[in-house]
Amino acid sequence: MVKDQATAQVAPVRIAQANLSAQAKVNPTIINSAPRDSRDNWGQSKNFKVFTLTPIILIALFCLVLLSACQRDEEQSAELYVFGTIVEIKLWGASPEEAGRAFTEIQQMFQAMHRDWHAWEPGRLVEINKAFAEGRPATADEDIVEMVRRSQPLETATGGRFNPAIGALIRLWGFHTSDYPIEGPAPSASQINAIMGLHPSSNDIHINGLELSSDNPAVQLDFGGIAKGYAVDLTIERLRSLGISNAIVNAGGDLRAIGTHGDRPWRVAVRKPGGGTVGSVQVEGDEAIFTSGNYERFRQDKTERYPHILDPGTGWPAKDIASVTLITREGILADAAATALVVAGLEGWPEVARALDLKQIAVVDENGTVYLTPEMENRLQFTGDVERVIVDTQR
Ligand code: ADP
Ligand code: MG
Repeated sequence: MVKDQATAQVAPVRIAQANLSAQAKVNPTIINSAPRDSRDNWGQSKNFKVFTLTPIILIALFCLVLLSACQRDEEQSAELYVFGTIVEIKLWGASPEEAGRAFTEIQQMFQAMHRDWHAWEPGRLVEINKAFAEGRPATADEDIVEMVRRSQPLETATGGRFNPAIGALIRLWGFHTSDYPIEGPAPSASQINAIMGLHPSSNDIHINGLELSSDNPAVQLDFGGIAKGYAVDLTIERLRSLGISNAIVNAGGDLRAIGTHGDRPWRVAVRKPGGGTVGSVQVEGDEAIFTSGNYERFRQDKTERYPHILDPGTGWPAKDIASVTLITREGILADAAATALVVAGLEGWPEVARALDLKQIAVVDENGTVYLTPEMENRLQFTGDVERVIVDTQR
């Protein structure tokens, strides 16, 4: 039930029918039965930042790695209810013992990430942001340092469209919440401009080993646009180190796969904003497929909708793209790029694609028209009649 809600509302890409037959051969994975806190909407949000963990949910999380008992050469799966979304892990060809060990380790990893990367619940990142505001250096852990290190060139390459230093702006809009939709008017232009005038940028941050310091007290890190991608990458890395070479890790529709599903490739469906699917993709070896959209999480008042991806150039939500789906190698790049492409809008996305050297991209506008690169057209098997426009971003 909880899963159905979440899948229906949040996962623009989901495991396609093709893999369900394999799943049916094994015991069905039991979906999360964690008690739901009335303050949370764990079943409805896909954003990484939704971390309002209560002790009960924490304990329940320990019980959530549920293995399907089956033989080697078949599929083993587990679902974690974490990051405000369902993280589904499927393995092919691992023994039940290997799978059990992998799932336990991954669950522990996710719990640590959940605790340490939160932008506003007490934890390491909040301490770092406080230190920046007070002009002090702060000690971070390796994961946070790595996200800063990776973010800096991505912010530069995207012309600032991806900017994880705009935490203050995100907070001002109320997008540091699990309760969507948010009701109420937009912040005032003067509130927005007050933050914009301080120009927070991840490039204001200096990295010295594990120590971070910022030249600009307005820098407030919020990894909502990148953390799911990095978490998926770390999970794949861990699986590999455990000797697992066929897997798919799907965090609420953003996923990375390695290897194959037995004698055929992993196959995933690409959803349409607003329901249905655009088509499906066969995963080729090691690939990440990520989607960002403006249609699931937003603030609204009587007349307007304000989606949760902000244009750091204006301080206002990005609007004219309903969703972007892209395929590349790494989750962290895919996640940041999807956010930046939404910000770039229908006019600007080919330029960002070129800057990041991304070739496989599909953009859906508010009318359902799909703009896609020739490389993406080769990958996407459309399910029905969709108005398509091929865009050669290399020009
Ligand atoms: P989703 O996967 O939820 O569709 P994204 O990966 O695009 O969305 O991440 C959106 C989140 O990233 C927001 O909730 C906010 O925390 C943060 N964010 C919003 N705008 C930006 C931006 N321009 N650059 C970096 N992070 C952003
Ligand atoms: Mg993103």
